Amino acid sequence: MPTFQLADLLRPHIRTLTPYSSARDEYTGTEGVFLDANENPLGSTTATGRYNRYPDPHQAAIKQKLGLIKGVRPTQTFLGNGSDEPIDLLIRATCQPGNDSILIVPPTYGMYEVSAMLNDVRLIRVPLTADFELDATAVLKAVEPTTKIIWLCSPNNPSGNQLDLEAIQRVIEGATHSLVVVDEAYIDFASDPSWTAQLDRYPNLVVLQTFSKAWGLAALRLGMCFASEELIGVLNKIKPPYNISAPTQELALEALDHVDEKNAMVRQILAERSILSEQLRAMPMVQQVYSSDANFLLVRFDNAKHIFDYLIEQQVIVRDRSKVQLCAECLRISVGTSAENGTLLARLQQFQDSGRWTVDAGLVASQ
Ligand SMILES: *Cc1c(COP(=O)(O)O)cnc(C)c1O
Repeated sequence: MPTFQLADLLRPHIRTLTPYSSARDEYTGTEGVFLDANENPLGSTTATGRYNRYPDPHQAAIKQKLGLIKGVRPTQTFLGNGSDEPIDLLIRATCQPGNDSILIVPPTYGMYEVSAMLNDVRLIRVPLTADFELDATAVLKAVEPTTKIIWLCSPNNPSGNQLDLEAIQRVIEGATHSLVVVDEAYIDFASDPSWTAQLDRYPNLVVLQTFSKAWGLAALRLGMCFASEELIGVLNKIKPPYNISAPTQELALEALDHVDEKNAMVRQILAERSILSEQLRAMPMVQQVYSSDANFLLVRFDNAKHIFDYLIEQQVIVRDRSKVQLCAECLRISVGTSAENGTLLARLQQFQDSGRWTVDAGLVASQ
């Protein structure tokens, strides 16, 4: 793609911005008398007395370990405070408020839209097809000169399916004046390969992943963004200097030493997903369980609102997606432990056996 120039996409003041130079940027050794960052030299009031020193602003150790696991260079890797941070930084780096636009393919993850709204960036919506597939032709047709980022999510939230690889490739190759972000938050549960392997081929490609799902570290708030060295350089320039805390860095490093255990949890969740999906399909009030490449199921019911409310009464919390485009009467259900899924199924069975389903939902459905 000879015509893609990142500089053309960046907001003018970002192109020329001089980043904050942190104390830890000016001296990178670990030995010495550190009187440069106004830290407390005595320690902290925690039990261990630790965490009085600022953390590594570049998270070099994590990026190196990630590189070995994922086959990406540390210079192609950005870490954020959740995926939320790279989502926001990508928009702020490229989109001129009140002028530029991003393109999303609903139904999809809500943060792209929230971040665009927050930054006064216009949204172009090109819905997925009725079976939640990517319409590459429609996407490319809808791209405007001001469209700085196209957001794809695969496997997609809330539908759960991975988007067709060829359709994604057509968007990446066709949108030569936009970044194409492929959000792979659920990649560990999917069979298709990660787009990280294509980073050297496509300078406009950005891949998001997260520690929040398969790695089981949602509370840490640690998101990964993989892209060209040039774009990663821009994100590093505009991020808050110490955006990843020391405890987060330590725990992430520990987690990365146990890839096999992560993979074992993924296998267990996938086994539970197929049991749950089969049992849901057997229930008369379930209209459809969409096939999933993620750790959740999108399920279409006879009357989602009734069921959602009943489950809440029973303290079983699922996600009501029934107001979302293409998701009428749908609830999104995370795959839980075997016991949790059993509780969900028992409550649903109770609802079905009670008069409420036949009297309320059944009547509504038959009218
Ligand atoms: C859960 C999820 C994320 C993860 O967000 P974090 O801020 O890293 O927790 C990102 N993208 C999608 C589509 C998700 O569903």
